[in-house]
Amino acid sequence: ITISHVTRRFGSFVALDDVSVDIPSGRLTALLGPSGGGKSTLLRIIAGLDHADAGTVEIEGVDATNLSPQARNVGFVFQHYAAFKHLTVARNVAFGLEIRKRPKDEVQRRVTELLQLVHLDQFADRKPAQLSGGQRQRMALARALAVEPSVLLLDEPFGALDAQTRRAMQDFLLTVWSRTATTVLMVTHDVEEAVYLSNRIYVMAA
Ligand code: ADP
Ligand code: MG
Repeated sequence: ITISHVTRRFGSFVALDDVSVDIPSGRLTALLGPSGGGKSTLLRIIAGLDHADAGTVEIEGVDATNLSPQARNVGFVFQHYAAFKHLTVARNVAFGLEIRKRPKDEVQRRVTELLQLVHLDQFADRKPAQLSGGQRQRMALARALAVEPSVLLLDEPFGALDAQTRRAMQDFLLTVWSRTATTVLMVTHDVEEAVYLSNRIYVMAA
């Protein structure tokens, strides 16, 4: 991911001021910085959920600045996972594939595979409310990975978890990452987490 001279203003407030950064392919990169520093805004711009006022975003060698979120092939996990409460775990994971109108048998196969990968296969028919916090984040990870994104964006995904679950999830992320070779960009404000997980750390100043 190559971010070049990205600026984002909200009214007269400058959230991102001429930011340029290179995120290496296939690596796990951490983005550290204080609250309000613009980390989430940068992630949303990379995902196509927000737009820059100036500058460009290149993903896997393609100028993605004006592409729709769907066309960017990017997976996203937030700190507080917004699950579809009325859908089962399996249907939540299937969601991205279903809106892309993938064939039913392919969706079924892929969901089974993903639930095994995140060790939730025995919970496929539960509702999100019947999962623990760590299990819900694993479901979020499976949902983000369902469409085989070339880039996985994680916005403080483990911030709401207790220390023990958090470490388990960090190790789990490393396992998934090493198997999928996805480019991962992870926002955290936890220096220890950034050092533990990443190949490279960028620090944003407020
Ligand atoms: P971080 O994720 O590093 O905590 P954010 O990217 O969420 O920071 O926010 C950066 C700054 O931009 C904050 O001061 C925030 O209030 C502001 N901001 C973010 N989104 C909006 C918005 N939609 N409208 C107005 N201000 C915003
Ligand atoms: Mg944020």
